[in-house]
Amino acid sequence: MRYSVAMSGDTEAVMRDHLLREDGQEDVLIATYVLSTGIERTTAVIRSVILPRDGERHVHGNASFTSAYVLRAAHEARVAGHGLALLHSHPGGHGWQRLSRTDWETESDYERVARSATKMPMLGMTLGGENIAWSARFWFDRTEPTWAESVRSVSPVLAVTWNDELRPVPKITGAQERTVSSWGDRSQGRIARLRVLVVGAGSVGLDVAQRLAATGLITVGVMDYDAVERRNLDRMIGATRLDAALGRAKVDVAARLMKSAATADVIDVRRHEVSITDPVGVSIALDYDVIFSCVDRPWPRAVLNGIAYADLIPVIDGGIALTTFPDGHMRNGIWRTHTLTPGRPCMACIGQLVAGEVSLDKLGLLEDPEYIEGAGREAPSHQNVAALSASVSASLLAQFVSLVAHPGSRGAPAPLHYVLSTHTLMQSDTSCGPYCAYENATRTGDRRTPIAEHRNDWREEVEARKAKRHPLRLRILSSVEYLLQRYTNRLR
Ligand SMILES: [Zn+2]
Repeated sequence: MRYSVAMSGDTEAVMRDHLLREDGQEDVLIATYVLSTGIERTTAVIRSVILPRDGERHVHGNASFTSAYVLRAAHEARVAGHGLALLHSHPGGHGWQRLSRTDWETESDYERVARSATKMPMLGMTLGGENIAWSARFWFDRTEPTWAESVRSVSPVLAVTWNDELRPVPKITGAQERTVSSWGDRSQGRIARLRVLVVGAGSVGLDVAQRLAATGLITVGVMDYDAVERRNLDRMIGATRLDAALGRAKVDVAARLMKSAATADVIDVRRHEVSITDPVGVSIALDYDVIFSCVDRPWPRAVLNGIAYADLIPVIDGGIALTTFPDGHMRNGIWRTHTLTPGRPCMACIGQLVAGEVSLDKLGLLEDPEYIEGAGREAPSHQNVAALSASVSASLLAQFVSLVAHPGSRGAPAPLHYVLSTHTLMQSDTSCGPYCAYENATRTGDRRTPIAEHRNDWREEVEARKAKRHPLRLRILSSVEYLLQRYTNRLR
């Protein structure tokens, strides 16, 4: 299991303001957390900050907690059902901070109090003031802490402090020269370590996944349970006639293309042939730092909209809608992209997700011709043009760069949409309303509203595809292609 800590930008600002004093002395602070549990990573999501009252801590020399402060906070955490986090600052500290002897003893001493009150491991955190670097460890018992791999501050600006020992800076390769000259080797080191998931490996997702690999990311996941068909070939650039003939899984095609495009020495491409609307898909998604939503149905988008706020994993979503005149001529095209994260409105608040549609999608009615006719609805439009889907992926990727490299320090923009017929790019000024269920569930972690459901339909589809036997001619072609690919990717 890997460990990480996530906090919203607002919470991080409150904690930073308290811990970095004007007089330059160390300080201490207590917070509470909830868990967000993935398959391979557990994240402590900072839930609330418990500021000390007068006399509850000493700040001269080595700052220290009083037992009264720890006991009060442990009680508050227990009542709320949260875990307890003890924080302190190293004002002159630079980068990921280690524990001094005194820090170790303090945290180890309070571990028992925290665990017996909350029944959860105690979290220890340090803020290095020199370059605003957070570090964290989990105390499962009092003998030795388990270090986290990263601490993420999540807002339109995603700032991650990495534990270089557990996730080392990847080597910069010759193929990355131009990338590195654009944002510097420090940014490259931070960005390349992000684990990014692309949900939906169709025209847009396939393009995004390849460009992430080419940017030098060392771990990229793709999630899709669908297979390539002949009718996809006008948009899935890089997918071949052989892929369609074999009905290959879209994630396999994406993995092949990503390995060809990768500029890192070694890329770890994770293939997830599952549905994001299933609890297993959600658990997998919780292992990632950033998610691209390249799906167009309401249910999967609702699940991702939830994760963005509850689990503090920024989701970059987008899509395109083309309309035609009755005579078949093109009328208009609109593409939208938005980054879902605390500080930016969710998909429901910008009208990109309608609750009623999610329920219909769950019931499988959105593609049901009988229902569509009976309800007097318009049949879903599946128009798409390869020449335009690149505009969606380009806009999604630009949001990603703003989120992680933050040129101009502003981070991800407000929701954008481009109107093709009038050539106008617009920025929405909507914010989440006070009654937004998604935003109100921010920082709830494993207590997120359950929208995903266990289903067998997609499982059966995947199994049927795997069981299928193909003609010998296609199998030989496939083996030759595989070998050629493998040896080509080994060229240095
Ligand atoms: Zn909202």
